[in-house]
Amino acid sequence: MPKQISVGLVGVGKIARDQHFPAIAGNDGFELVACASRNAQVDGVRNYKTIQEMLAAEPELQAISLCATPQVRFEQAKAALLAGKHVMLEKPPGASVVEVAILEELAREHGCTLFASWHSRYAPAVEPARAWLAARQIKAVTVLWKEDVRKWHPNQDWIWQPGGLGVFDPGINALSSMTRILPRAFFLKSAELWVPSNRQTPIAANLDFIDDRDTPIRAEFDWRHGPEELWQIEVTTTDGVLRLSQGGKVLHIDGASVDIGPEREYPGLYERFHELITSGQSDVDLRPLEHVADALLLGHRHAAEPFIE
Ligand code: NAP
Repeated sequence: MPKQISVGLVGVGKIARDQHFPAIAGNDGFELVACASRNAQVDGVRNYKTIQEMLAAEPELQAISLCATPQVRFEQAKAALLAGKHVMLEKPPGASVVEVAILEELAREHGCTLFASWHSRYAPAVEPARAWLAARQIKAVTVLWKEDVRKWHPNQDWIWQPGGLGVFDPGINALSSMTRILPRAFFLKSAELWVPSNRQTPIAANLDFIDDRDTPIRAEFDWRHGPEELWQIEVTTTDGVLRLSQGGKVLHIDGASVDIGPEREYPGLYERFHELITSGQSDVDLRPLEHVADALLLGHRHAAEPFIE
């Protein structure tokens, strides 16, 4: 029986209900004891409006899972770390790159675990893809990450605000898998961004990366797609083509399906969080967020149609 760690969850929205609650309930190493959310109440736990109220009332709490929007992540994480709690950050880990580096330092100073989670890395195709690609020579990479924003992000106004990432909110999932499976580091050469004239963040983006061997790595993110989402990474190597599809649930090598086991992204995340806490470590990989920041630095902007919900 793993050591049981009490956890409080902050920001009860779609991802908390869809994934975090079932994953915590299915993990013997965690017990959900409290939630903090301005507008939601969760049955069976103690409820607070803010993380500050929760921390003041729950001194025994050991860990905090932050599931609110990225724009409020830093203040919530800082409050938790200053109170000596272990912290798991939903993706993206922050609204800027540097704020997360500061959190990592704070965690170190306070002897806490900081886990900047990337759920897509726990999709079942990711580790087999990484292993297969490790010793291979990559010729080209094409990433298509396309979905209907109205289906996946209804009424999420925060996503269109600065720090909300727009189409990079799902796109960063692709970047988190790419940075995990590709054997060599890559960087952005150029980008095109389409931003609705009434919004602050892109609805579509085309990104051209290369690595130190000039391997072309192309990613296309688009929210004007539908109704069937396309979440696919295709890697052409000198030994054949690897294709990860359905966001990492399916793997093909040269057209042949590879048996990779069931989907368990969020159970995998909580197992990792538990392992990090019990071994006294942190896990903060900022590369996916750095690539988004680079796209926003280098991107050539085009005005797109206004987006009306
Ligand atoms: P959501 O449904 O809009 O929920 C976010 C919650 O954050 C809200 O319910 C709200 O709860 C709280 N919140 C919003 N603004 C806040 C503020 N200014 N101050 C304090 N709390 C605030 O969004 P979501 O889809 O769950 O996404 C949350 C995070 O999870 C995002 O970073 C997203 O990228 C990530 N994520 C989402 C999905 C998905 O499929 N939706 C998948 C993976 C990861 P209260 O109003 O009750 O405080």
